[in-house]
Amino acid sequence: MSSSHEDLHSPKDVYFQNARMYQLLKLAECDLQNRQLIEQALADRSARIPPLFRQYFYDYMYADNHHDLRQVNYMAQIAFLLYFFADIFIIPDIFFLSGVSRVLLVIVAMLCGSYLFNHYKNIQVLEMFLPICTTVAAGIWIGLLLLSNSPHVSTYLYATAIFILVTNLCIKTQFKGALYCSIFIALFMTIGAIHLLTWSQGLIFAVVSIPLWCFSIYINWNNTLNVRRIFLRNLLDEWNYQTLKNLAHTDDLTKLYNRRHFVNLAEQAIQQWPKHAGTCLLMFDVDHFKLINDNYGHDVGDRVLQLIAEVTRKEMRQTDVLARFGGEEFIALLEYTQPYDSLMIAERIRKIIQKQVFYITPDQSIQFTISIGIAELESPEQTLDDLIKKADLALYQAKKAGRNRIKIYHPDILKPATSSSSKHRNIVQAVQQAAKNSDKQVQSSSPL
Ligand code: GH3
Ligand code: MG
Ligand code: MG
Repeated sequence: MSSSHEDLHSPKDVYFQNARMYQLLKLAECDLQNRQLIEQALADRSARIPPLFRQYFYDYMYADNHHDLRQVNYMAQIAFLLYFFADIFIIPDIFFLSGVSRVLLVIVAMLCGSYLFNHYKNIQVLEMFLPICTTVAAGIWIGLLLLSNSPHVSTYLYATAIFILVTNLCIKTQFKGALYCSIFIALFMTIGAIHLLTWSQGLIFAVVSIPLWCFSIYINWNNTLNVRRIFLRNLLDEWNYQTLKNLAHTDDLTKLYNRRHFVNLAEQAIQQWPKHAGTCLLMFDVDHFKLINDNYGHDVGDRVLQLIAEVTRKEMRQTDVLARFGGEEFIALLEYTQPYDSLMIAERIRKIIQKQVFYITPDQSIQFTISIGIAELESPEQTLDDLIKKADLALYQAKKAGRNRIKIYHPDILKPATSSSSKHRNIVQAVQQAAKNSDKQVQSSSPL
């Protein structure tokens, strides 16, 4: 039953394919402490993601990248296969062995890749697939060069540059992982160079390869940093968005929805009204609230309003839209609720408010009551204004009849009580009876 205001504001944890639609933060996480964490991380030279947001970072990266990553893996596998045609001309003595090893390696990579991409939603694992495959491919390929007697192997060894570039190509979260793979490839290159090149050739090879290796690592690190900063800025944007949205929708004093947001939500609800289910509007107002203000001060009045908001919110269901309508007046739209049920809910709220004891000082306390007006939505063509007017009329009648009671709107509400429709009289009597049965302690003299 209890529906906290927080729950009503909480975003749904839904994964979208596209990270731009991915909701990064929940409203409850938009506090000053978290904002400070994000700002500190942005100011940090290596933009380290705070542990609290690390999983969000990985989820966000997965949503934004897994599709492209899968494609790059396929392209790399195809490129590795196509190089077989280069092998035919450059290392013709072992072209058969080369072909078999390339095909086998690509089959294994494709099988593992499709398993990983279909079963793992972990960007760290998926991102490491390409560097690991590339390292294995580099090792096998250099092994092939070592077996070949072709005079072109020393020149062909320069193609290892492609492996270094591919290893670092897609890295956004796994800088260290790709770095270790690059180190392995550098080791294979060194082994190849030692066996296949003369000293002078080796020197030229080192002059070309080492800067290339360093730049590739640098690009990898730069990518990682940029992605972290973009994520942190997105996090900050999301923090601002959630906080502003909440401010625009929330009443400052009671933390309930404000009137504007209530009107938006209620109008939407009326448009989608399922006729069979019924929808009711509750308006309630604190009785003699002016007296509380006058006798105990405005701040006590404010705290009484906060207490009423808190108590009522707990009594409402998750689907009920509760708001402060203005001053000491509250409003609630109860969807999927027939008049009888809305009366039961209103009666529960009235009673629980009546029981509240508010301590001004440890030895001075006050109690207060509310009056409630209810109107039932008659058709989706009915405007919200009209529904509110009817609930307000019922509330006015409740006040006129002595306060601390509930009135439900019916067309004859302004006529003397004897002419009220039998349908509404029956509902009121039924609720009275149910209320009496459920709480015999309340000595209320028929407040309905
Ligand atoms: P009734 O039983 O007929 O509703 O009497 P009432 O005294 O509650 O109604 P009235 O409309 O005469 O007074 C409402 C008072 O509520 C007047 C206004 O100063 C006070 N009020 C409105 N908004 C706030 C608020 O945010 N805080 C406080 N403390 N008082 C407020
Ligand atoms: Mg009042
Ligand atoms: Mg009022």
